[in-house]
Amino acid sequence: MEKFHAVERHRNLSNAFSRRSFIATASSFGAFYAAAQLVPLPALAAEFAGDSRVSQTPIIDKGFASVRKVGDGLFATISDPSKGLQTMCNGGFLVGKDSALLLEGFVSPPGAAFQMDALRLVSQVPVKGALDTHYHFDHSLGNSYYGANGIPVWAHAGVASRMVTEYGTLQGKEKSEVLAPFEKRVSEAKTELAKKHAQERLGIAGNMYQMSGANLLALPNHPIDPAMLPMKIDLGGLAAVVESYPGHSGTDILVRVPEQNVVYAGDLLFSSSYPVLFDSQATVRGWMTTLKTFASWDKDTVFVPGHGPICGQDWIAKFREVFDDIVEQAEKLHKAGVPASDAADQYVVPEKLKGVGMYAYTFTVGPAITKLYAEWGAK
Ligand SMILES: [Zn+2]
Repeated sequence: MEKFHAVERHRNLSNAFSRRSFIATASSFGAFYAAAQLVPLPALAAEFAGDSRVSQTPIIDKGFASVRKVGDGLFATISDPSKGLQTMCNGGFLVGKDSALLLEGFVSPPGAAFQMDALRLVSQVPVKGALDTHYHFDHSLGNSYYGANGIPVWAHAGVASRMVTEYGTLQGKEKSEVLAPFEKRVSEAKTELAKKHAQERLGIAGNMYQMSGANLLALPNHPIDPAMLPMKIDLGGLAAVVESYPGHSGTDILVRVPEQNVVYAGDLLFSSSYPVLFDSQATVRGWMTTLKTFASWDKDTVFVPGHGPICGQDWIAKFREVFDDIVEQAEKLHKAGVPASDAADQYVVPEKLKGVGMYAYTFTVGPAITKLYAEWGAK
């Protein structure tokens, strides 16, 4: 973990690699999104129309992502995957008088390069590091861009090993071997609905296999021990705090600027959509506690989520309602004696949450119900 693993530092080679990997990545993403719901989203939630802290006009907009000011020295990168898949997740950067901190490795090196170019439009200060908010592929597969440019990659100490376990091992396996358990679930599905969900999951598994193979893994070389958090970072007249909270991946870190009430939440916040809870270390209850903390912060807090539009406390309240509804429906199924394997397929989006997006059922409510059942000790 001391050095980037297998990162090529030669700029020309790195650029050639980026192009190759991007072409491979982009072609596999077409199918990836064919298996998931993809809704174009605005960069800002309605509550920020007219808010002077958040710039209505981006400093750069490439379609697949745009970058705008959300505070003094604070910028948010908001992705629109419906227009291209270079970045896929949101990110941003913090610029002080002495140095800058970039957030997220994105899903591909061209995504990380885009954000670096955006930073250079506003400042030439040295980059202290690029922080992955967690290990997931859409936040980390572009890390090699930073490695190739001598920028340290920061992340929760658990990120490097999870990247190797989840994506590195995929690179050494045959596709048929990786997909076998997912194909089994499709063939063993007892209802049409269960079959539909199992097919969606199979499609995503196939595409994750392709993406892992298309990108070179560059592991963080600046591990952050969660036991040492919160950690203050001084960028020169701009003080940020790094904190860790449970919920989405077991490796989640966020960056907060308390003086300006701005929070870069990573995937602890999905704006305008259901939470993604497929990770083996995701926790429904832990995440709900984290959201209670978010709700306790200033009423004018600007949240930059891991996915979706920039939002405020209005969405935090709604997002908590989403969690409450999942728990409520799971409890009803549990009390009615529906077994875990069937219950996971039976969540229904209620009227009050219509319009809240869902990336994929089998990455959101499906695993949430399975986790809740496991908590209740149910079969
Ligand atoms: Zn994630």
